[in-house]
Amino acid sequence: MTRTLAEVAVEASDCTKCRLANGRTQVVFGVGDADADVMFIGEAPGFHEDKQGEPFVGAAGQLLTRMLDEVLSVARHDVYIANVIKCRPPGNRDPQEDEIESCTPWLVEQVSLIQPRVIVTLGNFATKFVLQTAQGITRMRGRAYPWHGRTVVPTFHPAAILRGGGESSRQFLEFRDDFELVRETLATLNRETAAPQPVAVKEPVVVPEAEPAPEEQLELF
Ligand code: URA
Repeated sequence: MTRTLAEVAVEASDCTKCRLANGRTQVVFGVGDADADVMFIGEAPGFHEDKQGEPFVGAAGQLLTRMLDEVLSVARHDVYIANVIKCRPPGNRDPQEDEIESCTPWLVEQVSLIQPRVIVTLGNFATKFVLQTAQGITRMRGRAYPWHGRTVVPTFHPAAILRGGGESSRQFLEFRDDFELVRETLATLNRETAAPQPVAVKEPVVVPEAEPAPEEQLELF
């Protein structure tokens, strides 16, 4: 039987599949609408996320929330936000191969339960992981990629924007452009799957009785 996202989150909350369980305050599973059209995927929880149990709650998260509001006109609870890695690596070091491998089933289950139409990968790590590419985010961003029947839009990690000069930087404009691309992608998908308008039937359709087949046609059989 298929589990709900909430049930999976409960199971993940005492995960000990890798060494990151030893140093964490809590598992940071994910937050938002279990039926969201858009899912954001970052790298791993940082200090604040580990303390609060929610992804992207620090300064980078505030920038993400602002882009959701300003460009997509949605709130955090309208989308789903998660990380590839669910527990904070010590000192925010890069996740290691075996940690990534242990954690991947949680992300796979999240994606298959939420079924987002668009996935936004935030930064190098999530983009390389999801799209299985060696290309860096600067090369990958600015385009939408088909991915298992969905669309992936890679963009910069909001923390990289903050580190790189914030709003006055070229990266910030590109980051914003990527959110515009998410908006356009969603609009296109929604148009493509818009329900056909019902056709008004004014009068009952009378189906004429079939004509008996002419003799010569029957000879064909
Ligand atoms: N950086 C991430 O990649 N994820 C978070 O949740 C916070 C910061």
